[in-house]
Amino acid sequence: MSMNKSVNEPPWLDELNPQQRDAVTYGDGPLLVVAGAGTGKTKTLAYRVAYLIARGVNPGRILLLTFTRRAAQEMLQRASRVTQRGTPVTGRVWGGTFHATANRLLRIYANAAGLSKDFTILDQGDAEDLIGMIRHEMGLHSQEMRFPRKRTCLAIYSRTVNGSMPLHDVLERYFPWCDMWEKELRSIFGQYVARKQERNVLDYDDLLLYWAEILSSDRLASELSSRFDHILVDEYQDTNPIQARILRGMRHGNNNIMVVGDDAQSIYAFRGATVKNILDFPSQFEGAKIVKLEQNYRSVSPILETTNLVIAAARQRHTKNLWSQRQGGERPKLVTCKDETQQDEYVIDRVLSHYEQGVPLRKQAVLFRAGHLSDSLEIELTRRNIPYHKYGGLRFLEAAHVKDLVSFLRIAENPRDEMAWFRALQLIDGIGPGTAARAVKHVAKEGNDPGAIRTFRVRPAAREALAALAGVMDDIIKDNYNPAMQIERIRKFYDPLLQKLYENPGARMRDLISLEQIAAGYKSRRDFLADLQLDPPTSTSDLAGPPHRDEDWLVLSTIHSAKGGEWDVVYLTHAADGFLPSDMSTGSQDEIEEELRLTYVALTRARDFLYITWPLRYYFKWYALTDGHTYAQRSRFFTDEVMTSIDEVHLEYASGDDISMDIEAGTDIANRIRGMWKK
Ligand code: ATP
Ligand code: MG
Repeated sequence: MSMNKSVNEPPWLDELNPQQRDAVTYGDGPLLVVAGAGTGKTKTLAYRVAYLIARGVNPGRILLLTFTRRAAQEMLQRASRVTQRGTPVTGRVWGGTFHATANRLLRIYANAAGLSKDFTILDQGDAEDLIGMIRHEMGLHSQEMRFPRKRTCLAIYSRTVNGSMPLHDVLERYFPWCDMWEKELRSIFGQYVARKQERNVLDYDDLLLYWAEILSSDRLASELSSRFDHILVDEYQDTNPIQARILRGMRHGNNNIMVVGDDAQSIYAFRGATVKNILDFPSQFEGAKIVKLEQNYRSVSPILETTNLVIAAARQRHTKNLWSQRQGGERPKLVTCKDETQQDEYVIDRVLSHYEQGVPLRKQAVLFRAGHLSDSLEIELTRRNIPYHKYGGLRFLEAAHVKDLVSFLRIAENPRDEMAWFRALQLIDGIGPGTAARAVKHVAKEGNDPGAIRTFRVRPAAREALAALAGVMDDIIKDNYNPAMQIERIRKFYDPLLQKLYENPGARMRDLISLEQIAAGYKSRRDFLADLQLDPPTSTSDLAGPPHRDEDWLVLSTIHSAKGGEWDVVYLTHAADGFLPSDMSTGSQDEIEEELRLTYVALTRARDFLYITWPLRYYFKWYALTDGHTYAQRSRFFTDEVMTSIDEVHLEYASGDDISMDIEAGTDIANRIRGMWKK
């Protein structure tokens, strides 16, 4: 196929520039699109899917790998809009994250992987707890030994697995202070793996690891790769070595693979991702064609000028400066605020003024480095009745009450899942870790029938509750209960406990209702659990279901979760050293470099207006009693050179302003305190 326009080429190819078109209409073989932000990489991928289908490729034989499920859905919707003007032929495309795809394939090839089909998945917290338990059992937990904490242990384990690197090297390079514990760590990890296998559970890393392992057999690699005629991958810069290995295995039979990425936007090195995957692509997939894109379609020129200057400071970089045809427009503004309160006021003021001028809230986004940084803004937005949705930060699934409820489903799915048992059992008054461990053993002895928990002997006080729990298990493993009914049944048991166990039970109950509503969309508990754990809802809007046409809300997002997105107006808050770069990530030059790329990702989300704000004074909320605050410095990434492209705004605050602002805040607090006693 060439880029010559032939008569039967679809007309919508005209919506692409020549390089994009080249990529979309490329024939068989490996293809790498490496290009900067907003150059249409994702668009090109979506059009490629459409093109392949228009050319007769069976949609069920296309695999589209993206960073979130939502991203895959959006791309497929786009592809169907392009080709069919409505008919979603793309519905059969395999689309989603690496982890979700691994989950699907591992159920099919469970036997080959030495797994049983009904395996359940440990989330991060469970994995940490399991490691903590093993560490404890091995007597490595005592204070004076200064043995790494469970979270650190898991991080070391994860880094080793994901980086396909020996433990020794990982310790030396990333965790030198744990170096002396190599022997102990190795034995903990050995037990951790054995324990997971015995219990038929996989952690997140295992999903990739098992997938990669089955591909190491030639026969299975042929078998798996023959399922797909084409594989396409977005955000390739954020894949890790194991994912690259998986892709090689998945292309055993043919080498039709297209990946797109931007090395300047690599922001997941802390999880083992590496831009090396992009650089190595041509050598790993022989005969790869490389396409570069340099025209940015997203941002107006003044914004692009700033983002080009910001990324120019990166030491390693392969993509070139971008240009835009979108002339005119305003220069970005850097706004120095007195403190967070003023920063919130400024942002809200601008949001409303753009709204007045016709930019819906949905097309405006406030971005920040860490989830908690929007706390005060959220309070202010709520107070003023401005609707918003937040992406990133604490995930829904990490909330204790959601984990509680999910643990019942996990037991029903896989009665060997000990972490789920521990969680569920310890909800009962009078059952602690020791009793729970004995109870799990008891169930195992009874052939892993969840209802067998009934015959476990406990103190009289806990007996009734335990029998009730057994009743729940009996009911929900029945075939005639769909996932939503199962949750309803669990809630009969769990809701009264929730009332006793947690503060703010009303809000938590609403989460459970949402969960029940999501579950109603599923036929099988297994699929529901997998989606919930592998692609957890990242915002309240995911939970609320498809929005109404006239609904509008402001977007709040961590920078990591904003990846790939674009908004007419973008506000980057807390652009001060300590927040950006985060003081958690200023240990090495590499870490700082990643923070620079993160800043670049944030700024390149903006189409028409870009505001960068930072609070001069920052109060330590956690030491409220000492009234401690600190003076911040403008983020080091906004160098004098970068500032030549930005307009500086110093907010005026006459002493009078100051006072009235405090009074307003004061009334609000009084109100809130009174409100605590209402209801
Ligand atoms: P990022 O690196 O941020 O993920 P990207 O390279 O994936 O960006 P897209 O999101 O695909 O870029 O495209 C950015 C914007 O430019 C989108 O609004 C897209 O519709 C538009 N765009 C891309 N290519 C073209 C084109 N040829 N003509 C007009 N608009 C285009
Ligand atoms: Mg993209």
